[in-house]
Amino acid sequence: MDLKPYIRVIPDFPQEGISFKDITTLLNDGEKYKAAINALKELVSDLKIDVIAGPEARGFVVGAPLAYALGVGFVPIRKSGKLPYETIEAGYDLEYGKDKLAMHKDAIKPGQNVLIADDLLATGGTIATSVKLVRELGGNIVGTAFLIELSELNGRSKLPDINVFSLAKYD
Ligand code: IMP
Repeated sequence: MDLKPYIRVIPDFPQEGISFKDITTLLNDGEKYKAAINALKELVSDLKIDVIAGPEARGFVVGAPLAYALGVGFVPIRKSGKLPYETIEAGYDLEYGKDKLAMHKDAIKPGQNVLIADDLLATGGTIATSVKLVRELGGNIVGTAFLIELSELNGRSKLPDINVFSLAKYD
């Protein structure tokens, strides 16, 4: 599926020099949203996945429907302070700014095969931190899946030896 016609590119958002890939234009087209999730499902069809984990917030709109389509569970990776039970946390740098991610400490069972899903791979900081948290809980990362990959930022370099699947690449 060619995703690019459904992605709106906004120059200089949220700050000058950032070319923001806006997926809301994809999400509000039911047919194309479904096609995108099905295309991701196809990309990861060779993997043995027990559970999908996705970082807040756009990781939810990719990871949760993908989990539903595959018939596996979904684990939210949230910003610090949002999860009600006991958590583990890790800090990271964003393409623009800093943040901290958290997971419930019982969210992954040791040895579970985990796919991490998000809307977009930029510098890889978000996903590398998600990988770190999942591994700390004993999860086995079988891959990462994205709608969009910003190839120039080389997020893949932060994910050595990890399968990276994406539907659309931008330079
Ligand atoms: P990274 O940690 O640098 O790989 O940034 C990826 C995270 O930032 C993802 O969770 C995205 O939702 C968000 N992000 C970064 N750049 C963009 C963009 O151009 N469009 C939409 N989301 C972005």
